[in-house]
Amino acid sequence: MQTWHIHIDGLVQGVGFRPAVCRAAEQIQVCGWVSNSTDGVHIVFNGDNEKAEQFYNHIINNPPPNAIIRSHVIHETIAQEFKDFTIHDSDRGSKPNLLITPDIALCPSCRNEISDDLNRRYQYAFTTCLECGPRYSIIQSIPYDRETPR
Ligand SMILES: [Zn+2]
Repeated sequence: MQTWHIHIDGLVQGVGFRPAVCRAAEQIQVCGWVSNSTDGVHIVFNGDNEKAEQFYNHIINNPPPNAIIRSHVIHETIAQEFKDFTIHDSDRGSKPNLLITPDIALCPSCRNEISDDLNRRYQYAFTTCLECGPRYSIIQSIPYDRETPR
């Protein structure tokens, strides 16, 4: 079993990138992990050449709507074996080198929620989701994570 490392740099934090990678991993059935780092998103996973190419292409070609991929690279790395696909905690070790995510206008699905009088968030002013809402205005450190204390 081969092990691969993908590094994606750009506007990739606070835009639902890691959950999108998880969905792709589930769909294509690869095991490994995804993590935010100060220099972007890192993904390490198992697969043969064909699966690696399929997963890589899927991620690069289907990023979340507000993500901007500035560069991406895949290479084979030291063999490890994974049994599932997980999101790792962010690594805050080194100096940040990322585009800062801007505030993002309400997305169509949130707009639908707040205009639906049967929805529990009907007219709720602070409705946002993984793909929309404030980022830059509330950010205090990067990598941006919802769990970053503020
Ligand atoms: Zn939204």
